[in-house]
Amino acid sequence: MNRREIFAGNWKMNNCYKDSIDLVKGILKDLGGIGKKEVIVFPPSLYVKDIVEICKGTSIDVGIQNMYYEKEGAFTGEISPEMVKDVEVKYILIGHSERRHVFGETDDDVSRKISAAFEFQLMPVVCVGELLEEREAGNSNQVVKRQIEKAFNEVSLEKMQDVIIAYEPVWAIGTGKVATPDGADSMHKFIRTILKGMYNEELSNSIPVLYGGSVKPDNIAGLSNMEDIDGVLVGGASLKAKSFLDIIHNSQ
Ligand code: PEP
Repeated sequence: MNRREIFAGNWKMNNCYKDSIDLVKGILKDLGGIGKKEVIVFPPSLYVKDIVEICKGTSIDVGIQNMYYEKEGAFTGEISPEMVKDVEVKYILIGHSERRHVFGETDDDVSRKISAAFEFQLMPVVCVGELLEEREAGNSNQVVKRQIEKAFNEVSLEKMQDVIIAYEPVWAIGTGKVATPDGADSMHKFIRTILKGMYNEELSNSIPVLYGGSVKPDNIAGLSNMEDIDGVLVGGASLKAKSFLDIIHNSQ
């Protein structure tokens, strides 16, 4: 199956203005020819507009890390989907584990944000993944199935063509404990099975499913070799141009 190959960097709440600009320029400087590989960066929202300008006409697409689902109104501190669209980004990260577990976002919030993204022609990158205690209780599949079913409950087959899924086991995020390539691949296969049940085989085979959780230049080769891993969502190692570029270039 010839699927898209995507390398996404989630900068989270790191890097002030100058460091953010230097980082994207550093990535662009040594990105080189990447063929069909696709690169997306998710900078802090305050700096996105300038980074979109810098990335125009390059191989880097830009996204925003989070938004609210209402169009406008008395929601102090939030960013609306219309504002996200207005700064010309293509992607919106939805349901990252830190949004779910630090800020208490529910499956219902995730589902509403996905609908809001489509209303404003934004492409959602939707994160799912189990906590360590859920994994230890043998509930990983059950948790991921619930997250996927609730997230896409209202999404048509046509809209699913614009979705990217990221499987990010929470115990692997920022911990240095990467999933084994086989372990991640089997969850990706399971995600495709769920989507086949909800939609059809064609969609389940074509949708990009990324892995995220302690991806580094020295473990990308094993992960990217796996049949059902279509790229990676990288946190810590996307904060230095060299390590993010090494991940992109070392992937098979
Ligand atoms: C992430 O934030 O999505 C992530 C995967 O972080 P890290 O690569 O640092 O584990």
